[in-house]
Amino acid sequence: HENLLEVRDLYKHFPIKGGVFSRTIGHVKAVDGVSFFVKKGETLGIVGESGCGKSTTGKTLLRLIEPTSGDIIFKGQNIADFDKDNLRKVRRNMQFVFQDPYSSLNPRMTVGDIVGEPLDIHNIKKGAEKYKKVAELLDVVGLSPYHIRRYPHEFSGGQRQRIGVARALALNPELIILDEPVSALDVSIQSQVINLLEDLQEEFGLTYVFIAHDLSVVKHISDRVGVMYLGKMVEMADKDTLYDNPQHPYTQALLSAVPIPDPEIRQEKIILTGDVPSPVNPPKGCRFHTRCRYAMDRCKEEEPEFRDVGNEHYVACHLMDK
Ligand code: SF4
Ligand code: MG
Repeated sequence: HENLLEVRDLYKHFPIKGGVFSRTIGHVKAVDGVSFFVKKGETLGIVGESGCGKSTTGKTLLRLIEPTSGDIIFKGQNIADFDKDNLRKVRRNMQFVFQDPYSSLNPRMTVGDIVGEPLDIHNIKKGAEKYKKVAELLDVVGLSPYHIRRYPHEFSGGQRQRIGVARALALNPELIILDEPVSALDVSIQSQVINLLEDLQEEFGLTYVFIAHDLSVVKHISDRVGVMYLGKMVEMADKDTLYDNPQHPYTQALLSAVPIPDPEIRQEKIILTGDVPSPVNPPKGCRFHTRCRYAMDRCKEEEPEFRDVGNEHYVACHLMDK
């Protein structure tokens, strides 16, 4: 297989300022040493509870947030080292769709200007040619070219997310990072947008990183899925393996909370006790040990390695050593 993107030892620590002199008094370790790859043409889902670092991970991949350290290898080049010019060029190929279609679209810009803006920024198409491209893009996402002169507030949530997707497609990117793209939408609208994303992926050969907290949405669209907890990737596997044979106790607990439609299948619900610890001071050793029902002495001291237990099934848990 060919990896379109490879992420190695990615860190993002946000400084916390405090005191009268507004000095750095600590760090939020939002992303705390994450490594994974994304294959060309696939959808990699990334799931986890809010605050686990999944959105921050997504934004650092395009350097919308600057990583503290780590390698971001896109098509063989480490874009973490790129200067502004090179970064601007490579961004034609990597786009981002934001979680909230209400706040991510500029309310004072027409739909035509919003969707066409990337073409302006990169100086690609102007005038009638740009207009034609924007009309095409609106058509591709299921909107009408007549929407060009309208404003975001005139559209429903689902339509606004389609506008966001049209904008992301404007430069014919290979990779699109989608940050909770359907979380703000009604369930019925969610599946329409998911279906659209799947159609577009096939039509344009797109690669997706799809970030969400909803395990059932991710299951539908993903080829592989990664699970994050407190700034770390704890498990990653192809979709069927992850959902049918999860190995990490945290993944098992998350999945046990997802209702199964078949009443014949009985499932034990694993209740996670305790709060998610603060990402300012994550627990020593395995950072899940404060909530893990299998925690051993070793787990409190030694951090488990995120490693392949077979067939690209990655797990960070000491139980895998047995
Ligand atoms: Fe639980 Fe230990 Fe595995 Fe962490 S390493 S998930 S605490 S068993
Ligand atoms: Mg988020």
